[in-house]
Formats: sequence, structure tokens, C-alpha cells
Amino acid sequence: MADWKKNDRIQVIIEDLSETGEGIGKTDGFTWFIKDTVIGDHVEAKAMKVKKNYGFAHLEQIIKPSESRITPLCPVAKQCGGCQLQTMSYEEELRYKERKIYGNITRIGGFQDVPMLPIMGMDEPWRYRNKAQFPWGLDKDGKPVAGFYAGRTHAIIGCEDCLLGVEENREVLGRIKAHMERYHLAPYDESTHKGLIRHTLIRKGFQTGELMVCQVINGNQLPHSEELVKSLLEIPGMTSISLNVNKEQTNVILGNKVENLFGPGYITDYIGSVQYRISPLSFYQVNPVQTKKLYETALEYAGLTGGETVWDLYCGIGTISLFLAQKAKKVYGVEIVPQAIDDARENARLNGIENAEFFVGKAEKVLPEQFEKNQVYADVIVVDPPRKGCDEKCLETIVKMGPKRVVYVSCDSATLARDLKYLAESGYELVRVRGCDMFPWTTHVETVVLMSRVKVNTMF
Ligand code: SAH
Repeated sequence: MADWKKNDRIQVIIEDLSETGEGIGKTDGFTWFIKDTVIGDHVEAKAMKVKKNYGFAHLEQIIKPSESRITPLCPVAKQCGGCQLQTMSYEEELRYKERKIYGNITRIGGFQDVPMLPIMGMDEPWRYRNKAQFPWGLDKDGKPVAGFYAGRTHAIIGCEDCLLGVEENREVLGRIKAHMERYHLAPYDESTHKGLIRHTLIRKGFQTGELMVCQVINGNQLPHSEELVKSLLEIPGMTSISLNVNKEQTNVILGNKVENLFGPGYITDYIGSVQYRISPLSFYQVNPVQTKKLYETALEYAGLTGGETVWDLYCGIGTISLFLAQKAKKVYGVEIVPQAIDDARENARLNGIENAEFFVGKAEKVLPEQFEKNQVYADVIVVDPPRKGCDEKCLETIVKMGPKRVVYVSCDSATLARDLKYLAESGYELVRVRGCDMFPWTTHVETVVLMSRVKVNTMF
């Protein structure tokens, strides 16, 4: 095996992509990770960091491009870093995401047969985000500009029309910029903690067309705010305009205080026939088109006929719970963030859903407590945990409760695979696995899994 060192030139064919989207190629069994490459590319690269069995190299030249290589649609895709996969065709991206799920479930989960259904991709994989948060800064001529932070610096690269976001974003930002110029309002500068105008948060209800603008400020008020309101109201669909006060020296975007400037303080949207109220601080899935497919799949896997008792763990604002409640006898939701549970209850009320009940707390605490104290029962348990997956105590209780079906919605197929292994070793079998692409052009992918109980629980 060759002894590689920094600055060596290598030539490789890219054979795979890593979890984070770097191309992987091999020279005599030595593995190279090379950013900005695509499977099938023949490239020349320069060694940057060399370890014992692998190294990182910088792309110098594409000797022969892959057939799936495409020109990024977004002119700043490379500098922004928000999208990692814009140089690869969408079909190839979907295949990559399926392989990633399959790879984790076989390698980490130890499953040999994976009952996989085709990944659910988007017909139109652009402008899918209903939410955008743009920071403000100054361009090289000293004029305000919205965009994204360049690498790890405080400089902003102008980009007022992210192609993942809605077209109205540009219009909103243009009007805010005009207001800043007219009244000499400075953008916030992270390094000096001076300047008033921080991020602009924009949300759109895709089903209702309602728009929300929430301007974050490093101060208590926005000069001449009534004029900005007037200007923003000329944009069709404008429903809610507010200020958010964030005077902290932090990279957290929103502060806790919202001051309403126009409208009811929220917008409304639908996923399927369930209505949701979205305020500036509330969590809501960012890709509503794919969220509907994801939840419909979860609902299908839950196999509800109307008589079931269902637990929805990690329920957020109750989105999946309310979806399930339409077909179940009773749904219990559990979520750690109290405000999210307030929203969940409010959303239930809004939809006249009376068979959903919510608990605030950790799934791994609430579920065992309820099971031990009240002997609660479940026909179906749905989980949708954060990246780190389920706590073992939670899985242990699920197994003790012995529901017929477990539906696992996951944003990280590695921890998913680990948890599926636990369930498989405790009497559940893998029935269905399906990917859902919620974030086209990025390396992230969601997975929905159905596991069914195969034998009667012998643990109690
Ligand atoms: N199912 C929801 C949200 C899923 S995101 C939806 O589709 O909209 C995961 C959620 O788990 C977040 O809301 C997070 O606050 C919550 N969470 C994180 N750790 C938790 C824990 N230990 N117990 C319960 N909820 C938790």
C-alpha cells in the first residue's frame, strides 16, 4: 500500500457517497473522501489529511464527469453548504438515500431481508420549504443584504432567493431592505453585537397561501414599523406580521418575546384534512408535501380500524397524533417540550378532536410510569424520536406493553437500525421499510418502518 502524504496528487473513480455526502474512492485499498464529487466521477484530487487507512482530499479536476453529474441550479450551492447534493441528479440522489437506509438496517440492524418499498421522492424537488430564516449583513458596498453566513465567518453572502424556499421570500426581503435603507437601520453584526436587524423568519401555509413574517430585532422596537407593515401587506397572502426581540449574544435565532404588529399572531395550514395553527415560535414540519406522504404511510402502517388505542411518542405539536386520531379510538401523545404540548392541545381543539390526550415529559419516563401505575394499554405505538433515537428504557417498556404493531418514523437510519435490532430481539419482526425524501438536495432522509409482534410476550 502506498504511503500517502499531504499534497500528493491522486486519481480515483468515485464509487460511493459517505453519510455526509462526500464522494468515496479507493487507491489500492486506501479510502479517500472527496467533497463535491459524484458517484461515477473520475477525478484528480490533492491529499489534505492522511490517516492510516483513509484520507481526505480536495477536488482539483474532474477528468471524466459521471453520467449523473449535473450543474447545480443554485449559483451559490457550493459556498452555502445548505445543500450537499446539488451536483447529482435527483434520481441518483434518491438511490443514494435508499442505499443509505438499506446499508444501516443490514449493517447496524443485522437484518438480512429488508422488506423495502421504493422511496417516496418529490415530483418537483424545488421550493419545498415552507419556512426560511435569513440573516442580514452588509455587502461590500455597505448596503444591507440577506443571505447566509459564509463558512464559519460573520460575513454574509447575499442570496435572497434560496431555491428551496418560496418565491415570496424575495419579495418580503426586498421590502425589508427598502425599509432599512430608508430609515438607515443597520443589520446586526455578530462580532460587535451592534445593529438592529437580525434574522427575518418567513413561513407560508402551502394549503392556505397564508404568509407570516417575523422580524428578529436586537432592540425593543422597529422604527416606523407601521410603514413596513403597510408595505408587506401589499404581498398577497400576508396574514401575520410580528417582531421578535432577541438581545442576546447568541447564535440562537429567535428570542422568547414576540410582539404582534399585524394579524392574529399565527397562520393556519392543513396536512390532509387536519388544520394546524402555526405561530412564530412553534415547531412545524418544513416540507408539507412530503410530510403528508410520511404521515399517510405511518397511518397505513398503523393499520387502524377505529377501535384501537394508540401511543404517539415524541409527538411534538401532535401532528401525527391528530392524524391517527381520525381513525383510532384513543390516541395518547408524549412530548418533552411543554409549549409543543400546548400547541398539540390547541390543535386538537381546533379540529374538534376529542379522543387525543397529551402528556408532557420524557417518553422514557412517562410511558413506564403510566404502564406501571395505570397499566395503560396499546394496540399500536408510533415513535418519531430525534436523531439519537429511542432511550432503551422506552424500548423496554414498549416491549412489555406488547402492542401488535410498532411504527417507527426516523430521521436517522443509523439509530433507527439500532432500535429495530432491539425490537427484533424482543419478539417483533420487520414488515415494511420505506424512505421518504423530506429534504431534497441534502443528505437527510426520513424512514418509516412497520414492525409486528410475532409471539406472545413472555416477559410478564
Ligand atoms: N412527531 C412530531 C415531532 C417529531 S421531532 C412531528 O412529526 O411533527 C421529535 C420530537 O421529540 C421533538 O418535538 C422533541 O422535542 C421531542 N423529544 C426529544 N426528546 C424527547 C424525549 N426524551 N421524550 C419525549 N419527547 C422528546
